[in-house]
Amino acid sequence: MLFHEVTLELGHEPRFPSRCIACENVEPDSFYVLRGKAGRWIGARKRVEVRAPACWSCCGSLRLQRWGRIGVIALFAGLGLVLAMWLSPDAGGFGRWFAKGGLFVGAFVGALIYVFFPLIFDITVHPDRVDYEFRSRSTAEEFARLNNAAVK
Ligand SMILES: [Zn+2]
Repeated sequence: MLFHEVTLELGHEPRFPSRCIACENVEPDSFYVLRGKAGRWIGARKRVEVRAPACWSCCGSLRLQRWGRIGVIALFAGLGLVLAMWLSPDAGGFGRWFAKGGLFVGAFVGALIYVFFPLIFDITVHPDRVDYEFRSRSTAEEFARLNNAAVK
């Protein structure tokens, strides 16, 4: 694993170390806000909002990194599709499967980016719990200690 995960129950108010989540500056002047939804069904959804201490300037780069990566994954998936369509101009049965293959390969490359270049900080919301993912081992350990949890 290239990131360190701490799981807390849904509803547990997380306590963060009092330093920037990105650059570890000891006096962060802002918060990096992440939102997620728990539950797949409308009505059963709970909104989760996490506010992690961060410098104002770091918040900008954290957001940029997050959106940039979604863009890169979409770009790879799109490139895979375009390349496959270009290689098989006749849109017959085989061509369509080929295009799907291209999309799949593109999405796969995108997934590799997710695994090998994790975000500095991210959350995954489940129906009963929230996973907090940290790139920094020491931040994850301190976060776990503050919340009586363990690093996975
Ligand atoms: Zn910072």
